Amino acid sequence: MSRTSLPMPRPRADARLVDRYGRVGRDLRVSVTDRCNLRCTYCMPAEGLPWLAKPEMLTDDELVRLIGIFVDLGVRQVRFTGGEPLLRRSLTDVVRRVAALEPRPQMALTSNGIGLDRLAAPLAEAGLDRVNVSLDTVDRDTFKQLTLRDRLADVEAGLKAAADAGLTPVKVNSVAMRGVNEHRVAELLQWCLDRGYELRFIEQMPLDAQHAWTRDEMITADELHERLAERFTLTPLPDASRGSAPAERFLVDGGPATVGIIASVTRPFCGACDRVRLTADGQVRNCLFARGEGDLRALLRGGADDETIAAAITGEMARKRAGHGIDDESFVQPDRPMSAIGG
Ligand code: SAM
Ligand code: SF4
Repeated sequence: MSRTSLPMPRPRADARLVDRYGRVGRDLRVSVTDRCNLRCTYCMPAEGLPWLAKPEMLTDDELVRLIGIFVDLGVRQVRFTGGEPLLRRSLTDVVRRVAALEPRPQMALTSNGIGLDRLAAPLAEAGLDRVNVSLDTVDRDTFKQLTLRDRLADVEAGLKAAADAGLTPVKVNSVAMRGVNEHRVAELLQWCLDRGYELRFIEQMPLDAQHAWTRDEMITADELHERLAERFTLTPLPDASRGSAPAERFLVDGGPATVGIIASVTRPFCGACDRVRLTADGQVRNCLFARGEGDLRALLRGGADDETIAAAITGEMARKRAGHGIDDESFVQPDRPMSAIGG
């Protein structure tokens, strides 16, 4: 039998978001705004970016209608992200409305944590299940150097409020930067262990608005592992526990606490990807690194029915490439930066 005639894995009957490699879209990442109140240097320039104008952004009704169509197509987890998702004032209402969908998807949030001290409890009450808070250092000066804002105390308060509100397990996402915070990764892990937060490191990807990423400067998953192993005993958890989750997880000092390392660049997990993305201006993207996108906002505002919109979404999924191709000679960074796609 030739490779191309291999039978596709048969997805379950409720899964309609299937690509040509048999991968099924289950996890929808929704960017609810492209704005942000930090300026992480690996993400956006000090002066910020030309933000979307309000009329370009999906309204709450449009957003909830689209999420409902994705759920009909088999999405079972919705993650709200951005930009900084807590800057969308109506986020709690959106969460409440998505919680009323049938079947109710699991809901998570990726946030820089600023404002979570006020919003964690209302979001949990509205139906949010979990949060990931991004935090690259617990040293105040390094935080300022990395984010160009003196807001470490707000992030710490946000994390605590998330844990108190039961948005657990509280996960912390971290990017290590050469010469900036790389030498403090063990300190960050100890800080998270002391507070019961689950830390995951993510390799820096070529998705910054400035196009300053270089592979030589990136801290690799292997380097991170070496640095952490200088202070902790890391025992790999079996791959079977990973599923479509991108993190390679390790028990720390025999467990039960774990640390994750996401080798998005050096050991890509595209073969197990179950993600699909919706931008704040209503474009569906089949990959962070997609070069194209499908304009759902134009369909919505042109009066299209749900079936037509669903067909546009499945069409975009069908175009999903086998991998992100960062290592290919022909790799071109997408026009949209991470903050405008939704990480
Ligand atoms: N503002 C929120 C936050 O920081 O969590 C949500 C959006 S942010 C784009 C989502 C995640 O992407 C954060 O954990 C951030 O550290 C990560 N990120 C941003 N730019 C990145 C890059 N170039 N490579 C890897 N991760 C990146
Ligand atoms: Fe803002 Fe998140 Fe980008 Fe940092 S990583 S600048 S918090 S969008």
